[in-house]
Amino acid sequence: MALTEQQELLRTTAREFARRELEPRAAEIDEAEEFPVDNFRGLAELGLCGLSIDESVGGAGGGYVDLAVVIEEIAAACGSTSTVYVTHVSLGTAAIARHGNKEQAARFVPALASGEKIAGFALTEPGTGSDALAMETTAELDGDDYVLNGTKTFITNGTHADTFVVFANTDRSAGYRGINALVVERGAAGFSTNHLTGKMGMKGSATAELVFENCRVPVANRLGDEGRGYSVALSTLTTSRVSIAAQCVGLARGAYEAALEYARQRRTFGKAIGEHQAVAFMLADMATEIDAARLMTHRAGEIVDGGGDPVAESAMAKLYASEVLHRVATNAVQIHGGAGYFKPSKVERIYRDAKVTEIYEGTSEIQRLIISRSILGDLE
Ligand SMILES: Cc1cc2nc3c(=O)[nH]c(=O)nc-3n(C[C@H](O)[C@H](O)[C@H](O)COP(=O)(O)OP(=O)(O)OC[C@H]3O[C@@H](n4cnc5c(N)ncnc54)[C@H](O)[C@@H]3O)c2cc1C
Repeated sequence: MALTEQQELLRTTAREFARRELEPRAAEIDEAEEFPVDNFRGLAELGLCGLSIDESVGGAGGGYVDLAVVIEEIAAACGSTSTVYVTHVSLGTAAIARHGNKEQAARFVPALASGEKIAGFALTEPGTGSDALAMETTAELDGDDYVLNGTKTFITNGTHADTFVVFANTDRSAGYRGINALVVERGAAGFSTNHLTGKMGMKGSATAELVFENCRVPVANRLGDEGRGYSVALSTLTTSRVSIAAQCVGLARGAYEAALEYARQRRTFGKAIGEHQAVAFMLADMATEIDAARLMTHRAGEIVDGGGDPVAESAMAKLYASEVLHRVATNAVQIHGGAGYFKPSKVERIYRDAKVTEIYEGTSEIQRLIISRSILGDLE
C-alpha cells in the first residue's frame, strides 16, 4: 500500500522528530519511570495530538492511516511515549470526539487535540479486564448528576491525564445496556489517583489506579444516550487497535534496525555475524513479518478512514503485529548476544516494552475470540 505524498511528508516530520527528540531520552525515561511530558509537548507543537480527530470538532484532521504512520515512528524511538500518545489520541480523545455531542466536543476536544490537556480511558478494574461487562464501578443517577463509586486500575496516563473517559454500571440488571461512559476531569471531588510502579516495560507511561468515592459527574458529561457506554467502549477499542498494531510495527522496526546494524558490525569467526546464514535468515524473517504487519495495519486504518467498522481486521492487525513484535524482539536480543541482555541496550528495552502489546486493549486470546466470532458467526 503506497503512502500519499502528504503521508510521506508526515512520516518524514514524525521520523525526524522521533530520532532527534525521542530516541536520545528513551533509555533514561525507561530507567527513571518518568512520564515523558516534554515529548508529549513536542508532539503537541507539531500538531500531532489531535491527528485523526475530525476538524469539525476541533481536531487536526487526517485519518487512521496517517495516525498509524506517525505512531510507527514514535514507537520505533520510544515505546513509553508511544503508549502515552496512543492512549491520549485514539482512546481518550477519540472516544469524546466520536461519541460526544456538539456541546461536549466543544467543551473537551480542542484542549485535548492541541495537547494542552492529556486524555485517559478507564475501563479495567481490579476484578475484571477482559470481561468488561462484569465491572463493579457504579454510576447512580441522582438529579442532574451520576454518583460514581469504584476503582479502575492499570490506567495509562493515569497520574498525568486531565480528562478521563470512565465506564461505569448504572443498571446491572440491564446487561451491556446498563453501562455509561462518563467524562471525568481531574480535580473532581471524590476522584483520586494512585501511581502504580514496577511495570515490566513502557515504564514512562504512568499507569495508575483511579478511585471514585461519591464523585459527582454531571449527566451532561455522559457520552451518547443512557446505556450506550458499552458500545462506546467497543467501538473505540476497535479503532484504537489499529494504533496498537502500528505501535507494534514501530517497536519491531526499532528492534530490527538495531539488530541489522549490529549484524553488520559484530564479527565472529572472521566475518560479520550477518554473513552467518542463521543470523541473516532471522533478519529476513523480521523484515518480512514487519512488512506484513504494516500492510495489515494500514488496511484496517483504511477501513476506518472509509467509514467502515473493521472489527475483525483491527483485531487481526493487533494480534498479528503484537506476535510479530514478540518474535522480532526475541531474535533482536539473540542477534545482540550478551550485549542485548544488558541496559541500556535498545533491544533489551524493546523486549520488555513488547509484552504488554499482547495484553492491553484486549489480550491475544480476546483478539482470537473476536476474530473467530466474526468467522463463525452466531452458531446458536
Ligand atoms: C501497562 C498497562 C496499561 C494499561 N492501560 C489501560 C488503560 O489505559 N485503560 C484500561 O481500561 N485498561 C488498561 N490496561 C488493562 C488491560 O487492558 C487489561 O489488563 C487487559 O484487558 C486484560 O485484563 P486482565 O488484566 O484483567 O486479565 P484477565 O481478563 O483476568 O485475563 C487473564 C488471562 O485470561 C485470559 N482470558 C480471559 N478471558 C478469556 C476468554 N474468554 N477466553 C480465553 N482466555 C481468556 C486472558 O487472555 C489472560 O491471558 C492496561 C494494562 C497494562 C498492563
